[in-house]
Amino acid sequence: MREYLADRTKQIDASGIRKVFALAAQLKDPINFSIGQPDFDVPEPIKKAAIKAIEGGFNRYSQTAGEQKLLDKIRQKTSQDCGWKNPQCFVTSGVSGGLQLAFMATVNPGDEVIMADPYFVIYKHLINMLGGKCVFVDSYPDFKLPIDKIEKAITDKTKLLILNSPANPTGMVYTNAEVQAIAKIAKKHGLLVLSDEIYEEFCYDSPSESIAPYYEGTLVLKGYSKSYAMTGWRMGYAAAAESLKPLMDKMLQIQQYTFVCAPTPFQIAAAEAMDFDMTEYVGAYRKKRDRVVQGLSGCYEVVKSGGAFYLFVKVPPKYPNATAFVQKTIENNVLVIPGNVFSEQDTHFRISYATTDAKIEQGIEILNKIS
Ligand code: PMP
Repeated sequence: MREYLADRTKQIDASGIRKVFALAAQLKDPINFSIGQPDFDVPEPIKKAAIKAIEGGFNRYSQTAGEQKLLDKIRQKTSQDCGWKNPQCFVTSGVSGGLQLAFMATVNPGDEVIMADPYFVIYKHLINMLGGKCVFVDSYPDFKLPIDKIEKAITDKTKLLILNSPANPTGMVYTNAEVQAIAKIAKKHGLLVLSDEIYEEFCYDSPSESIAPYYEGTLVLKGYSKSYAMTGWRMGYAAAAESLKPLMDKMLQIQQYTFVCAPTPFQIAAAEAMDFDMTEYVGAYRKKRDRVVQGLSGCYEVVKSGGAFYLFVKVPPKYPNATAFVQKTIENNVLVIPGNVFSEQDTHFRISYATTDAKIEQGIEILNKIS
């Protein structure tokens, strides 16, 4: 046959997380520290709202921008969170959908996109597929926002700076001083910033801080997948100040020709979800974070994270790299993700503590044994 694959497909490889999932399928009742979604289910009233929406006939396309009821809530929240007067907002198919629209609307071949390393894996692959160039700024070993290094990485070709707090895979939460400092730099260079705030609800020590109130050139992406355990519902939204209307209009046009709209019944249910108090769920995750940090700190170098449900832990020196370490954990029925999935180096592993307390205890014991 003729070559049927586009050149851009050579830029991507199967997600390393998926590879661990495939291995997980062969294990019997593994201790699964690899999953990027909460272990609780969608709260009952939100499920009922989705069922009611389906039974009530909300089964057709919505407007490209989304159902009015949800949009009104998103606009109100954005005004409150960001202090913008007339925010531009629309509903996306998960934050992943928003990321694709944002990159398609902004990244030309050869354009540079700056992000801290380690980074969320989707950024790199989508940008590579569009012919963009990822500029990775090292944030090891403490995973704090590397502000000075970011400024040094800015060139004439820089198109976009990606921020992600609370962060995947490190669980780090930016401080107010950090977001203000980075806002100053972005302003000085007139740089578009994409702020992925999907884990905003999962902050354990201090509230989530966003660059958005300090810099109008920010495109905010937020989601429902993690906050309400609805990863399969594919719900998220994009928000920006009025001054970024041209960008939002283009993203919306691309949505028209790709995703068309986010799932309509789940948009209705997401509007309901926005009134639901998740404090209790977050409290349970704070305890899990504390237990894993405390449980591993004797045998591992652990940077205590303030959010999401991840820790990015250094591989003990007796292993040559994280991939070798992960082979050992799999032999011991524990699944974690090797650092090279999220990084240009392979020295750490990601633990997701979004699992039961019993599994956490078993996992800590095994990880300490093989350290
Ligand atoms: N951003 C980050 C940082 C994530 O960790 C994830 C999910 N793992 C996403 C975006 C995408 O989430 P979704 O498409 O389910 O909204």
